[in-house]
Amino acid sequence: MNDRKHILIINTGGTIGMTKSEEGYKPDAENFSRLLHRMDALMALEMPLWDITRTEEILDSSNMTVEDWNDIGRRIADVYDDYDGFVILHGTDTMAYTASALSFMLEGLSKPVIITGSQIPLCEIRSDGRDNIIASLLIASSGRVNEVCIYFGNRLLRGNRAIKYSADGLIAFVSPNFPTLAEAGITISYNDVYLRNRHEGEFRYVPFKNIPIGVIKVFPGIQFELFEAIMTEQLKGVVLETFGAGNIPQQGGGKLLPIIEKAYSNGTVLTVCSQCPQGTVSLGTYETSSALKKVGAVSGKDMTTEAAVAKLYYLFSKGYDKEKIKTLMGQDMRGEMS
Ligand code: ASP
Repeated sequence: MNDRKHILIINTGGTIGMTKSEEGYKPDAENFSRLLHRMDALMALEMPLWDITRTEEILDSSNMTVEDWNDIGRRIADVYDDYDGFVILHGTDTMAYTASALSFMLEGLSKPVIITGSQIPLCEIRSDGRDNIIASLLIASSGRVNEVCIYFGNRLLRGNRAIKYSADGLIAFVSPNFPTLAEAGITISYNDVYLRNRHEGEFRYVPFKNIPIGVIKVFPGIQFELFEAIMTEQLKGVVLETFGAGNIPQQGGGKLLPIIEKAYSNGTVLTVCSQCPQGTVSLGTYETSSALKKVGAVSGKDMTTEAAVAKLYYLFSKGYDKEKIKTLMGQDMRGEMS
């Protein structure tokens, strides 16, 4: 039994709190809060004490914006000292992006921030939301986690390592390049060596600015010249999703490289990620990737696209110059890369 820690649940929306309407499932915060208060399991002595609040907008997470991330971050920061941990209820569609964003936005985090949701709304009989909420509260009150995680389908994953993998399965998230942090079987067993230690520094919330960035996914036959028009000084960062270990088509690459060079001299930071969920970018292993390195692109190594996008927002919001951002994009900051 825990010592009745105190956890704040922040409802941001998502399927977990939706109810059926004529136009399909839609968020309904009031009904959801009623349902939670009626769940006997959440009142059990083994559970932590909890309060629930909600973000300004209750969203289908496909509609999440940088302002919504800031809303979540600010709500955590405002009461950081009053709670032992936080459980964020969130839609699955952009959960991995929000988890990555919070991992950067909450500097010096030494408390658990567990993001969860469900594939089936809590109001439905077969909802996976019940178990996800109960286990998230138990994990948030365990005293063992000091980082932003996703709990879903019996697994605790590092937030900035997770990707949404299934649109309809109950194990919707995977962490292909980092071990599972805990598994909920008969007991919840923690993979302690992989959990982040408490941060010694001061906690600080860094709101993100709405920085213009882009993601380009390479494909056979890509006509790179079409992207030239968007590679202006306005575009601060690009995540290039390449084949395998960082490869781009050479034929199209002939056209890509001058565009990247131009983007680079315009000040755009280009980060190379892989379309393969597992493994790492290694620029220079193949002829088809070494040219990217020469024109100033940064290897995102085994970072997810979600983490790379969030990290670009964070580093530009900090006001760092291009060279510092380039260096930091290639270095681990929050356990997001190996
Ligand atoms: N569209 C929903 C959302 O991301 C899906 C879900 O919650 O599973 O908000």
